[in-house]
Amino acid sequence: MAKTIQAIRGMNDCLPSQTSIWQFIEANIRQVVANYGYQEIRTPIVESTDLFKRSIGEVTDIVEKEMYSFDDRNGDSLTLRPEGTACCVRAGNEHGLLYNQQQRLWYMGPMFRHERPQKGRYRQFHQFGVEAYGLEGPDIDVEMILIGARLWKAFGIEGQVELQINSLGSAEARAKYKAVLVEFLQQHHDKLDEDSQRRLLTNPLRVLDSKNPDVQSIVKNAPKLIDHLDEESQQHFSLLCERLDNLGIEYTVNPSLVRGLDYYNRTVFEWVTTLLGAQGTVCAGGRYDGLVEQLGGKSSPAVGFAMGLERLVLLVESLNLPNIHKQGVDIYLMAMGESAQRSLANIAEAVRNTNPSLRVQQHCGAGNFKKQMKKALASKAKLALIVGDDELENNTVTVKFLAEDKEQINLEMAKLASLGSMI
Ligand code: ATP
Ligand code: MG
Repeated sequence: MAKTIQAIRGMNDCLPSQTSIWQFIEANIRQVVANYGYQEIRTPIVESTDLFKRSIGEVTDIVEKEMYSFDDRNGDSLTLRPEGTACCVRAGNEHGLLYNQQQRLWYMGPMFRHERPQKGRYRQFHQFGVEAYGLEGPDIDVEMILIGARLWKAFGIEGQVELQINSLGSAEARAKYKAVLVEFLQQHHDKLDEDSQRRLLTNPLRVLDSKNPDVQSIVKNAPKLIDHLDEESQQHFSLLCERLDNLGIEYTVNPSLVRGLDYYNRTVFEWVTTLLGAQGTVCAGGRYDGLVEQLGGKSSPAVGFAMGLERLVLLVESLNLPNIHKQGVDIYLMAMGESAQRSLANIAEAVRNTNPSLRVQQHCGAGNFKKQMKKALASKAKLALIVGDDELENNTVTVKFLAEDKEQINLEMAKLASLGSMI
């Protein structure tokens, strides 16, 4: 036998038994973004490597070690997108969507990062994200948070995710803070891991983001960026908190929340859950007012977030919520005899024409009553429609109720539309 070929490590198939939960999540997302007046943008999966180096930052986990980069046949360095924001800004600049305009955009699709695969962390994963341009906030920052909160309700997971916020201040304030932080970390140099020691020199704020518990315990006592904010950012942040209080949205201020990408400033936030172990962040975002200009456009304020769909699927699954798994069909058509077999597709089409929202499947091939009924039951159909010579002659179908203890009936072809009310 030939050797089977397997999927790439960390890149998952989404099997039919799982697609209903994905569709449930995606459908709710589409409804909620429409509800807030956002428009969809779709960008290519491959971009030039420079785009991510310039936006995400050279000294970040993503650019240092997680990108799928390769030279194409022309020798150009290309990268499978590790995230959506840079792509969105690139497209916005390229097509003149951003200059002097306000845009509320959303996207959804696969992203790629060469990480160690584990529960909630994969090499191909999916993000849904929103981005708003031309709005300084903090009202739009609040809108971002409201969209998240509305989605948790729609998914039935409100109460399972907690909002954490922080402010990174302006670039100048961060530069000043950096000096204070470095001085503090130098004092604990020996206790930092190798990664953090290196970052101390290249990008000290990243040390705050370390997942190493030993480093985290040092960072806990480090001077806080939130105490070194410029006045405008300070004001922006207190207004944000005030609006959230007004709306009754609960949050925690987490001073070591710095995000893994360099382009953020002022507001940053994450929605986290304790139900998924170490991979607890289901949604992360913030402001990136400098990014549009950094990527060659005219300066424009911007804010956005990205949600990891795999983690949401895991979370929704773990709660065993009812009514999400919509498997099987509503109606299964069976043919008794050759004439019926010949006409079955015509009858099935008539059922679909009169009942566009029902899932209708016909038996294919021959088979006695018992065999066909077995298939009908396996299909989870609520109704079996049986067509034989008698039915053909009288222009009827026999309706058998598979989910209820009810006598079968004979239904005229002209009344197929009434099937919907029997489901
Ligand atoms: P983490 O701290 O978990 O590595 P991150 O800061 O790298 O996350 P972002 O780049 O902000 O994550 O991406 C936003 C969201 O996308 C994350 O909160 C998470 O839900 C999801 N995500 C990121 N990387 C992965 C991955 N490798 N597999 C699955 N989901 C991911
Ligand atoms: Mg990461």
